Amino acid sequence: MTRMDGKALAAKLQEQLAEKTVALKEQVGIEPGLVVILVGDDPASQVYVRNKERSALAAGFRSEVVRLKASTTQEELLAVIAHYNQAAEWHGILVQLPLPAHMDEEAVLLAIDPSKDVDGFHPMNMGKFWSGHPVMIPSTPAGIMELLREYGIDPAGKKAVMIGRSNIVGKPMAQLLLDANATVTIAHSRTENLEQVAREADILVVAIGSGHFVTKDFVKQGAVVIDVGMNRDENGKLIGDVAYDEVKELASYITPVPGGVGPMTITMLLEQTYQACKRFLDLG
Ligand code: NAP
Repeated sequence: MTRMDGKALAAKLQEQLAEKTVALKEQVGIEPGLVVILVGDDPASQVYVRNKERSALAAGFRSEVVRLKASTTQEELLAVIAHYNQAAEWHGILVQLPLPAHMDEEAVLLAIDPSKDVDGFHPMNMGKFWSGHPVMIPSTPAGIMELLREYGIDPAGKKAVMIGRSNIVGKPMAQLLLDANATVTIAHSRTENLEQVAREADILVVAIGSGHFVTKDFVKQGAVVIDVGMNRDENGKLIGDVAYDEVKELASYITPVPGGVGPMTITMLLEQTYQACKRFLDLG
């Protein structure tokens, strides 16, 4: 079994990104700018946002976090987004989800300039992605594809099973595996005989949000197992959707939690911000 070290790969890629950022700054005097907008005080979101800011600064980016009260109106949030849409020094705008219940998430995502939508959730970017002309790709699935590449795992011709069908992970991940010529099944909470379906997989990706749900009964000998889940156990410890200790006995490759998919997500977000900056500068 090989443990897929997302933390190490993320560190390597972020170092390369920092070098590219220095070169860009030398060339044109501009660094990529990422603004993250956080509404409310959801503790998990606070942690994610802090990590994004820290990583962006470490890569040499301009970085700003706009913290708005949970009571902020949708109009106020849209005004903030409109401001950053116009501001040339910001190349990536990310609104941290979930938003407070009184806000219309779709309307908020629609308001972000698609060329700055580094999460890839704007319907225009999603449409381009689904039709095979991606500009912005949701970061978590993009990070998983990088991990597969790093470990020499080619999905072509393989059976891949994606458990979970969210717009941010499950569906785009299935699409990327399909684009990479895997034969893809998408499973979800209504799938019958889930264990049996999962056991068909050469590549099993799990994003359901249920701690240690996937046991060895879901896994074929030699499968590649990618765990996207981020859950807290009864002691507050971060755990994945996969029961790592028992599944690693069967898997050929497996991602740990923490240190697997999570660090890659931030890395891909930074990479997309860098690419958005280059497109803005007409450099690629
Ligand atoms: P989500 O929107 O809640 O979607 C969960 C999906 O899992 C749904 O499609 C649901 O099926 C399915 N599901 C739930 N329980 C199931 C069960 N018992 N059997 C089969 N399918 C089941 O979640 P998400 O946003 O995709 O996130 C999933 C997990 O990944 C969470 O733990 C989240 O924290 C984590 N995550 C991690 C990263 C990272 O960077 N590492 C990024 C994003 C998310 P239905 O559609 O039928 O309801």
